[in-house]
Amino acid sequence: MNPAVPYTVSEIAEEARRSRDMGASVIHLHVREDDGRPTQDKERFRDCMEAIRELCPDLIILPSTGGAVGMSAGERLQPTELMPEIATLDCGTFNFGDEVFENTIPMLKTFCNRMKQNGIKPECEVFEKGHIDTALSLQRKGYMVAPMQFNIVLGVPGAANADVRTLVFMADSLPKDATWCATGVGKTQFELAAAAIVMGGNVRVGFEDNLYLGKGVLADSNGRLVEKAATIAKILGREIASPAEARAILNLASRPA
Ligand code: ZN
Repeated sequence: MNPAVPYTVSEIAEEARRSRDMGASVIHLHVREDDGRPTQDKERFRDCMEAIRELCPDLIILPSTGGAVGMSAGERLQPTELMPEIATLDCGTFNFGDEVFENTIPMLKTFCNRMKQNGIKPECEVFEKGHIDTALSLQRKGYMVAPMQFNIVLGVPGAANADVRTLVFMADSLPKDATWCATGVGKTQFELAAAAIVMGGNVRVGFEDNLYLGKGVLADSNGRLVEKAATIAKILGREIASPAEARAILNLASRPA
């Protein structure tokens, strides 16, 4: 749907560099085969992470454990074997377009245990309020430690809409010591980013969620989307964190890079 979506290892590393150059401090990473098929293959992740580190040694790399809808838990967990500082944890089962994105409580417990063993901080991906409640319940039972990091993802067809009222409600439902960012899917990407910036949250933008810079204008790189988000932040008086500052904000500073 956008020819600029990176497939190969070098294309992915170049996209990370473009994003870093425009202000990104964290790269959320999915990988693909050279022909574009999504994969959770550990060796492909290893190659991509090494290539990114070569171009941008200081970037925080946040691999996906969501993969693509329909992948098994074992398949999805592969990147956790590479000991990233942080990785995604999808906090509930929900409709994802015409499909079901399965994240049962037993699966969540397995994912949490693996991340705990490997010293990986979970970023809790929450697509509706119940996912926050599920994550907090797991934290109370010892599956995760505070302070927690959340990504409030709104606008997936089948889950909560991307509107400011929902964002405020969900951000208000987080523990006081938690950090969070917002992700608007599709054409809401920058509206939701602006709202999160005003509220004091952090922001995710990029091709996973949105391919357009504006109405009918395909972005020619992830860097262009980061540039737009950084410009909105600066206009609204928020500073852009360096990777070192982001490590401190996300409480990753004591973890091995
Ligand atoms: Zn993702």
